[in-house]
Amino acid sequence: MAKSGVLGYPRIGAQREWKKAIEAYWAGKLEEKELDRQLQDIRLGHLQKLKNKGIDFIPVGDFSMYDHVLDTAAMFGIVPKRFAAYNGGAVPKSVYFGIARGTKEAAASEMTKWFNTNYHYIVPELDGVMPELTENKPLLAYREAKQKLGIEGRPVLLGPLTFLKLSKGYAEQGIDAWLDRLLPLYVRVLQELEREGVPWLQIDEPILVTKLDTGDVRRLRTIYETFHSSAPRLKLMLQTYFESVEAYRDVIALPVHGIGLDLVHGLEDNLSAIRTIGFPADKALGAGVINGRGIWKETLHIKKALLDELSTLVPPEQLIVQTSCSLLHVPISVQGETNLAPELRDALAFADEKLDELVLLARSVTGGGNGTDEDIQAYDSSALALSRSEARNRHAIRQAAAALAVQDPQRNRPYAERSVIQQAKWRLPSFPTTSIGSFPQTPEIRKARQLWRKGEWTGEQYSGFIRQQIEHWVRIQEEIGLDVFVHGEFERTDMVEFFGEKLAGFAFTQNGWVQSYGSRCVKPPIIYGDVAFQGAMTVGETQYAQSLTKHPVKGMLTGPITIMNWSFVREDIPREQIAYQLAYALRQEVEALEEAGIGMIQVDEPAVREGLPLKEAKQADYLAWAVRAFRLTTSSVKDETQIHTHMCYCDFHDMMDSIDAMDADVISIETSRSHGELIGSFEAKSNTYRKGIGLGVYDIHSPRVPTVEEMTDVIDRALRVLNPNLFWINPDCGLKTRGFEETVASLRNMVKAARVARDTY
Ligand code: GLN
Ligand code: ZN
Repeated sequence: MAKSGVLGYPRIGAQREWKKAIEAYWAGKLEEKELDRQLQDIRLGHLQKLKNKGIDFIPVGDFSMYDHVLDTAAMFGIVPKRFAAYNGGAVPKSVYFGIARGTKEAAASEMTKWFNTNYHYIVPELDGVMPELTENKPLLAYREAKQKLGIEGRPVLLGPLTFLKLSKGYAEQGIDAWLDRLLPLYVRVLQELEREGVPWLQIDEPILVTKLDTGDVRRLRTIYETFHSSAPRLKLMLQTYFESVEAYRDVIALPVHGIGLDLVHGLEDNLSAIRTIGFPADKALGAGVINGRGIWKETLHIKKALLDELSTLVPPEQLIVQTSCSLLHVPISVQGETNLAPELRDALAFADEKLDELVLLARSVTGGGNGTDEDIQAYDSSALALSRSEARNRHAIRQAAAALAVQDPQRNRPYAERSVIQQAKWRLPSFPTTSIGSFPQTPEIRKARQLWRKGEWTGEQYSGFIRQQIEHWVRIQEEIGLDVFVHGEFERTDMVEFFGEKLAGFAFTQNGWVQSYGSRCVKPPIIYGDVAFQGAMTVGETQYAQSLTKHPVKGMLTGPITIMNWSFVREDIPREQIAYQLAYALRQEVEALEEAGIGMIQVDEPAVREGLPLKEAKQADYLAWAVRAFRLTTSSVKDETQIHTHMCYCDFHDMMDSIDAMDADVISIETSRSHGELIGSFEAKSNTYRKGIGLGVYDIHSPRVPTVEEMTDVIDRALRVLNPNLFWINPDCGLKTRGFEETVASLRNMVKAARVARDTY
């Protein structure tokens, strides 16, 4: 029998109690003491559950009020200087939440994606800070679990190499200077844990799956040799996840007691390293065989075969059956999901169901013979119905999508030719003005949707209301003097859910929330079957808007890659095929729009970069099929039909060729957060990037109305690099979160700025 281990558990609570408590505290409706009490209840409840399920290594200290990277920074007193209220020592909640969310006096720290997940962490700012140990968070968590529940937890701590490399502001003094400063603080944490008698510490170093240079490998050795010599009795589980570990040889040679590997996402390379190089017999192997990021039941007999192989390498007591990463990335439980089709429900495993899988697998390792083989067989067969379901066997669609993808669809003519045709048709002025799609979702609109959902309004009443909104905004766009209109997306709450609800192959949970950042949770749809177009999704509203004006109205779709990256997806076929199925369905929507007389169609792809694999070697392939999926969606239209796309800000520097290959006639991109980097990317590419482009001229994240001059400045800066004949003028992103007045005023100024540009260039 092996042991079972969990790397982290969702914080949000079964009914998102965590979010509600924290937000109530922010709103001044909950006292600090009461917040602490409620969070402790949630935390202890989770621990008790893990214990009851029979998990051997129960994580403590992974719980957070906002983010575990921010917790680590706070533990070391790393608070940006602009939070002047902070004078060292334990970081009070006001400062902690201030760093995350900003205060009246000081801007928030940057937030960014946690590796290749949809979780976002707060980037620690080292500049000008002198770190100190303000509290020993893992120790406090360990004591709490022990005293309150008698649980001998395994504390979790973010390792120094990962922490530093995810921080910013170390460049000036160098990462080694910072390591010298942090290492003694880490040592104190470890020594206190050792003194307390803590048996195991899980020390997370996910950075080890990313590219490492020789300096990093040297640092790694320094760190773990220091730890070993300073706290020799504390067993360290050096934990990696999200991909296969780089520098495997160096990692297994470190003086730690255990190494945790992702045997789901990094399975191929990790396993081949284990097989060819071996695994040290004196170390525990944390075998991350249960997908911590997926929502599907595992096929346990396959996992068992893998574990049986591993158990020939390490003695059973050294083998720990683990989740591949923290369960932070999955919803809590399938229980209570009463609306799902039974064959789908039976195939799902969220966090709690994964606990059962872990325990069953751990029991089964080495020999079984205690009924586990039968249990595993029964378990595996419970999920089989889904693979036989109609939803997963739409063969015609699969074949059509795959066949189209193989042809690598292209527009009928290259951009240079079709743009002439488009200009002849549309006769747009230079510096055409447009918006990104959504207009303010006012309380009135949300109220209307609620009334309709509750059944107090008929569908007719609701769609009549939406039409009024559309008409209202067509008139506003006319009055403001925009060139290319949108219908405003009033009927949509969410750019993925809206399409998912109308396509076959999607399911929606009632309570499948996961943390995205801070208290913000998302409930991703599940793509569980072959995706099928079932009829026009956006034609009605778009056509209605178009009927009210002579200006072109852009159709507005969410692209295949964004829909995929913001959903939980099936794992029985490659992501690439899912993307093509989505693309094939959206292509039919594009064709329906064109058929209905819509001559400009925008396909938003804000989430392309989110799916980028961590390993450089896998990136080109991903980008190639992502681009192919975009072209599959958009390439069947007439030459005169203008395809737009939109991306929110991301790091574009290594994606310029892909953006070019998407072959959209016009791309709009957010710029406000890019500090000129974006323009640089296009500068490097400016000899070859020759298609319509709208770099957002104002930040939509703020309610402030930008002046004409500010926008003129942005335009001037962009035009130092970009061709004025190809330049579009638009805001950074959709306006759905903005208020009515400020939106109208901002767009008015934007149109004035376009006039200035027309006079100048
Ligand atoms: N068309 C969408 C909107 O305007 C685009 C949103 C996005 O890029 N995230 O809201
Ligand atoms: Zn955007």
